[in-house]
Formats: sequence, structure tokens, C-alpha cells
Amino acid sequence: MPIYEFRCESAHEYERSVPISARDQDLTCPRCGATARRRISAPRLSRLGSSAGRLLDRTAHSAHEPGVVDRIPGARPTAARTTTDPRHARLPRP
Ligand SMILES: [Zn+2]
Repeated sequence: MPIYEFRCESAHEYERSVPISARDQDLTCPRCGATARRRISAPRLSRLGSSAGRLLDRTAHSAHEPGVVDRIPGARPTAARTTTDPRHARLPRP
């Protein structure tokens, strides 16, 4: 996500990484709580493509759409043994 500059009514300036689709929404100033509007400036896109930028984008994305996993990432799947009856081992397998 690009970084935009915001300025509140009390002239506090700060930068925030905001999705392009939400760039025109007003934010709350972290220092005084007043409404902060985006300043017209060039979005900082230089971070895009870097590993730090990808990490920040992935973190922001997972906040809204967390991934669902069925095992620990990187772990090998283990076959669940459900029976100890030896006759079940002779049953046909799919
Ligand atoms: Zn402020």
C-alpha cells in the first residue's frame, strides 16, 4: 500500500499506509483526535516490491482476511490413525 500524508485541523502532520481505495477517507489524528485530511502529495510507491513492503502489505491484508490453515505452516501432514483393528488394514483403499 502506498504511504500518504495527512494533516489535521491543528496542523499535526503524519504519514499512514492506506489502501488506494481508501485514500480519500478522512482519518483521526493520532496526536489530538481531530479529523485529518489527506494532503496532496505523491504517494510513496518506492517500498513496493521490497521484502519489507511485501511484509507490511501481507500484514495489513491478513488483518482483514486472515488465512485459514489446517496445520502448522511448514509441517508435514500426518496420517490420522483411527483404528487398531488389523482387519481394517485389508479393506480396499481409494
Ligand atoms: Zn492533530
